[in-house]
Amino acid sequence: MNEIVKKDRCCGCSACYSVCVVGCINMVPDSEGFMHPEISEDLCIDCGLCRKVCPVLNVMESGNVVGTVYAAVSSSGESVRAHSSSGGVFTELSRVVLAHGGVVFGVRFDCTMKAVHDFTEDEAGLDAFRGSKYVQSSVGESFGQVRSFLEGGRRVLFSGTPCQISGLKRYLRREYDNLLTVEVVCHGVPSPVVLGHYIDSIYGSVDDVCFRDKATGWKNYSVRFGNYRQCYKDNYFMRVFLDDLSLRPSCYSCPSKSGISGADITLGDFWGIERLNSVIDDDRGISLVVVRTSRGADVLHESQISLLAEYPASVLKYNPSFSQSAKRPVHRDIFMKECVAKGFMKAYDMIYPPSLITQIRRRLKLLLK
Ligand SMILES: Cc1cc2nc3c(=O)[nH]c(=O)nc-3n(C[C@H](O)[C@H](O)[C@H](O)COP(=O)(O)OP(=O)(O)OC[C@H]3O[C@@H](n4cnc5c(N)ncnc54)[C@H](O)[C@@H]3O)c2cc1C
Ligand code: SF4
Ligand code: SF4
Ligand code: SF4
Repeated sequence: MNEIVKKDRCCGCSACYSVCVVGCINMVPDSEGFMHPEISEDLCIDCGLCRKVCPVLNVMESGNVVGTVYAAVSSSGESVRAHSSSGGVFTELSRVVLAHGGVVFGVRFDCTMKAVHDFTEDEAGLDAFRGSKYVQSSVGESFGQVRSFLEGGRRVLFSGTPCQISGLKRYLRREYDNLLTVEVVCHGVPSPVVLGHYIDSIYGSVDDVCFRDKATGWKNYSVRFGNYRQCYKDNYFMRVFLDDLSLRPSCYSCPSKSGISGADITLGDFWGIERLNSVIDDDRGISLVVVRTSRGADVLHESQISLLAEYPASVLKYNPSFSQSAKRPVHRDIFMKECVAKGFMKAYDMIYPPSLITQIRRRLKLLLK
């Protein structure tokens, strides 16, 4: 076997890599930095397991699509909410699992600013998972580790994008009462190579990135690279991300949105809350929480989360990423090619030609350096 699924459809979840008993699959980055399975054909015994667990080839017919929709925030003090992207619900769910001696899987940056899945068995480890990283994470060995903890009787919370939850569920191939899966509403994941080139061309290097800094509010949030903070609307990396130029190809026809991943809980930003209930909108971050299973409801009710209001599923229309894939822009491939070959700014200027004032400003900056 040389291909499990067509390259553009593969979401890079690593389920195939994790399940292959002879170890003939490696996850290898393509030129855009997105991980894909590479099969050593001489070792492959054609057992077909990789195809069986691939969430793109095995989309769940119904999943847990319908759920209860809440607007919610952490109620354990301002710090959690202030340092989380939305209302801090992820941290509070995690605390319940840790309090029962469990393990929490989430995404952190490593020392080279690559987003990686990892696990923690204590609260201190949650700090690194808090906050959205707008770049695709590498799942690594996490699926196998999840199974070992589950088989050992530990409670596990696994968080990630809907396709990562789909991949994990299919890899496990059975239900575990001690597993809680938490997915984020997902706009799509930008390329690690674009983030690398962006950091390189603007800052040289940074040792800390925060994509959802609330210093300027929740709706009008800032991004922070090292000590440099900017409103997201003025930031070049965010513009490229939100204009869908740097997303993984599979994100333009996502196989896992709308709850079909089978996740117990979906978390997002409750965009549109000001239209539904302006009284609870304090611009410090409100989470959209969709609870689909009794397991999810039990952990939610045990946690320090304030359920501010319950809504019908129709309010999900305010959050298009919940169910709709991003549209592939016509310039997407040209942007990516240019970025890979010549760096972020060359690609950016090609798509968004700089005004004369911007060009003068940039020259002055260079002279003053
Ligand atoms: C790439 C991406 C796109 C998103 N797009 C939208 C959107 O369009 N609309 C919307 O309403 N919400 C979106 N979200 C979700 C939202 O930004 C918050 O993550 C979510 O509301 C949880 O917030 P919180 O306050 O509960 O906790 P936080 O502490 O902010 O949540 C962090 C959680 O996100 C996980 N996470 C962080 N980065 C990644 C990553 N790269 N890959 C997988 N998991 C990650 C962590 O493991 C943890 O579970 C997106 C998140 C990501 C990562
Ligand atoms: S068919 Fe079996 S041995 Fe071959 S790559 Fe897939 S899982 Fe591995
Ligand atoms: S299992 Fe995941 S990584 Fe493997 S081919 Fe399918 S989508 Fe791609
Ligand atoms: S948009 Fe879909 S395919 Fe892309 S990362 Fe999110 S869940 Fe995965």
